[in-house]
Amino acid sequence: MNNLSSTWAEVLDYCKTKVAKTTYEVWIKCIEPVSAEGDLVTLLCPNNYNLSFVENNFSHIIRDGFREATGEHYNLRFVEEYQLPPAVIRKLHPAASINEEYTFDNFIVGTSNKFAHAASQAVAAKPGIAYNPLFIYGASGLGKTHLLCAIKNEIARNNPGMNIIYIKGDDFTSELIEAIRNSDTTEFKRKYRTADVLLVDDINYISGKTATQEEFFHTFNTLFQDKKQLVFTSDRPPKEILTLEERLRTRFEWGLLADIQSPDIETRIAIIKRKAESYNLEISDDVCNFIASRIKTNVRLLESTVKKMNAYYLLNQEKPSMASAQNAIRDIFSDSQPTPITVDRIISEVARTFEVSSDDIKSTKRSAQVSAARQTAMYIIREITPMSLALIGKEFGGRDHSTIVYALAQTEKNMKKNASYKAIVDDIIKNIRDKN
Ligand code: ADP
Ligand code: MG
Repeated sequence: MNNLSSTWAEVLDYCKTKVAKTTYEVWIKCIEPVSAEGDLVTLLCPNNYNLSFVENNFSHIIRDGFREATGEHYNLRFVEEYQLPPAVIRKLHPAASINEEYTFDNFIVGTSNKFAHAASQAVAAKPGIAYNPLFIYGASGLGKTHLLCAIKNEIARNNPGMNIIYIKGDDFTSELIEAIRNSDTTEFKRKYRTADVLLVDDINYISGKTATQEEFFHTFNTLFQDKKQLVFTSDRPPKEILTLEERLRTRFEWGLLADIQSPDIETRIAIIKRKAESYNLEISDDVCNFIASRIKTNVRLLESTVKKMNAYYLLNQEKPSMASAQNAIRDIFSDSQPTPITVDRIISEVARTFEVSSDDIKSTKRSAQVSAARQTAMYIIREITPMSLALIGKEFGGRDHSTIVYALAQTEKNMKKNASYKAIVDDIIKNIRDKN
């Protein structure tokens, strides 16, 4: 295949002729082609619900579409975003384009977020002057990225000349690692140290990485001395980011710490209504109240519920009702819960913290750092997944039962003896659970 995106455009045209318009709009249009390697095409679906439905109902049509467009047979692999490497996702969704819809106007203010909202507005109005740095923290799905992007969009609107850099903590890390690998960090340094406004989303992801923290520390100092605005978000306050260097922790606390709590019922209802409005979907007060009473802690899930109800409406003409809300919530939870706490995720989280690679952990290497990481990974898998010892052994290159038992005992002993090791293990577990 010469070009995946133009082929995909032809496939879409083909699909349009094979299914009803709403079916196409709801199910197929949102699929994104990721790669074509040999005869295998990888397609990205927006969620697990979409994935299984498309896979079961439309994969033959899509396959025919490829045959029609290329004359050849392709096998299809449907994936969700979490199955792709971050670098691939970034290529698909460059940060700049996705976040323009996040503004102060469409952020609903309630008691849970009014402080963070006010601080963000103050910073956006007078970058570098009001609060510096501004550190926004709170659990997943509560609007941190939304506020950060609102700051970015507002400053950009009022100060067209300003150099505003928005970056995710883990992208900052991978860019730096790349620069170090190419033995050229000059450009990296220049890029970040000439920012007028630096916004780092999920800064907790730079924790545990010495080189990144070092570079970030210098960037921070340069910008701070020049009175450039710094804003960070994190899933927890600086003092709870255990692997964060002390000198960075102190700096993060220099400015203003603003937390976002789970929304109260009024705010949840307002968010549901606003979202429904944006789809032109009518949801009665009863149904709004019902949704708000069922989903209490995560705005993202509230939004997904309304989105799903909209899909039911488009697809089956099913008007929003108590029953459709119930179904949507059930789907959302089954979409979001079995996001399996996979072994790979645990291993990569442990690898990140111990600064070794996931491959090392799965290998038979015996250096102290790698062995410690491996034992920790085994312990965490045992703690938070239902996997048997035998299965865990299998994941680690067919190690036998007694090796795992030994690793678990070793880890438990270490945790008893060493409080800071225990804190790190607890922290990794919390991190994995939160992201789930
Ligand atoms: P976080 O970065 O804290 O995990 P996000 O900023 O990505 O959360 O928010 C998740 C979703 O919920 C986004 O679509 C965002 O627009 C929406 N959202 C969160 N809080 C609000 C709010 N107060 N008003 C409107 N939308 C919100
Ligand atoms: Mg976020």
